[in-house]
Amino acid sequence: MQEEASYVCASCGEEVVIPLDLSAGASQEYVEDCPVCCRPNVIHVELGEDSEARVWAEGAGSDALPSLSCLRRRRQNGMVSPT
Ligand SMILES: [Zn+2]
Repeated sequence: MQEEASYVCASCGEEVVIPLDLSAGASQEYVEDCPVCCRPNVIHVELGEDSEARVWAEGAGSDALPSLSCLRRRRQNGMVSPT
């Protein structure tokens, strides 16, 4: 059974590995901030009958701004903030 999947951020193109919550249903949709660029992605998860996951991301819009809480978290972690 697959418990991790990855999506490609619609804003920066980086591949992001996410944990899957298999108990949350066969079709899931939620918003997550990209850990690389902090812009929100709408994550779609579809679990097939064999529990194989299909995961893809939709950008929240070309004018989506980086999430401030994500940027703050990155600064606390000592990561370089994007310019
Ligand atoms: Zn990104």
